[in-house]
Amino acid sequence: MARDEHKSGINTRLAHIGNDPGAFHGFVNPPVVHASTVLFPDAATMASRKQKYTYGTLGTPTTDALAEAMNELEGAAGTIIVPSGLAAVCVPLLAFLSAGDHALIVDTVYHPTRRFADTLLKRLGVEIEYYDPSVGADIARLMKPNTKVVFTESPGSNTFEMQDIPAIAAAAHKGGAIMMMDNTWATPLFFRPLEHGVDISVHAATKYPAGHSDVLLGTVSANAACWERLHETFITLGVCAGPDDVYQVLRGLRTMGVRLERHQESALAIARWMEGKQGVAQVLHPGLESHPGHAIWKRDFSGASGLFSFVLDAGGEREAHAFLDALQIFGLGFSWGGFESLAVQVSLADRTIAKGPYAGPVIRLQIGLEDVEDLKADIERGLKAARSL
Ligand SMILES: *Cc1c(COP(=O)(O)O)cnc(C)c1O
Repeated sequence: MARDEHKSGINTRLAHIGNDPGAFHGFVNPPVVHASTVLFPDAATMASRKQKYTYGTLGTPTTDALAEAMNELEGAAGTIIVPSGLAAVCVPLLAFLSAGDHALIVDTVYHPTRRFADTLLKRLGVEIEYYDPSVGADIARLMKPNTKVVFTESPGSNTFEMQDIPAIAAAAHKGGAIMMMDNTWATPLFFRPLEHGVDISVHAATKYPAGHSDVLLGTVSANAACWERLHETFITLGVCAGPDDVYQVLRGLRTMGVRLERHQESALAIARWMEGKQGVAQVLHPGLESHPGHAIWKRDFSGASGLFSFVLDAGGEREAHAFLDALQIFGLGFSWGGFESLAVQVSLADRTIAKGPYAGPVIRLQIGLEDVEDLKADIERGLKAARSL
């Protein structure tokens, strides 16, 4: 690429990474290559497989464009692209864990990650242990001779505990384990795990990279030491993503910077406004000075996305449902990272350590791109309904 993009600002890079117009007749975007078969010019080339592309499952110019963009954003040696964020969690765990190994997973992990560990990984003979998100360097005490992977997600799923990633990574490496992180919340724009000791960074690209609630995709980016094994497992499993979805995520990256600026600004404004509001016991957003993990967030992260939770000051499911049912703009639905605001009551039933206590039900908000004043009015409606039971 002609420009020295590594020195450019993030939005400049997002506008160009992964694209190589000179390679495709000047068209700005790469082609969407639908392919299984790739032809070889002769039998010798076919036998040696000595050409850039050989079969659809092994990569195309479309998947390469997104992988290159993610390598640049994550500072990675290589990136695999898989059909969902959940697949992006499972493939690296399968790549680096074997029967007889021990894995440490944060207790505040995304629930389907826990389900994968507790069912499939256990069945394959892997010992799973959950750790407190506030563990920091003390994770060294949980390391066993057979600990091969430490898997983390920071902030924690739904309750937003911040973890001391550099301290945990240092202890993991000292004990001979590799460190994986689900970095979906921050995106590589607000946190670059590989620069903080993480070996493998996972994204549900379904969220902010796609940005429009219409695509499922996952990416896994590895440092040089872990790339070969990750890539080999990806090829072995055949979990390649469809070209249209890959293209949509590449398209989403072009606007991810400006979208995230707005998500960040609106979510912080609403979180601040909710603090101390009648009926609200606590706002769980690491960008707030009141958050117990604020200092770590400020030290390691360069921003916050649009997802946070709050705690009603009393009641249970009845109050939570009254809040949710009164909303007119926020949709009731899973996932996040799209243009529209969403709300959901959080379940802490799977937690073994980080259970609270919380004064009342925990509700998660995804702040979309709507006008803040309209979202505030909607939240007022919800709080009023919860109060008036
Ligand atoms: C949504 C999500 C996933 C899974 O992504 P899907 O594409 O929905 O499978 C994984 N990790 C985190 C933190 C998520 O929020």
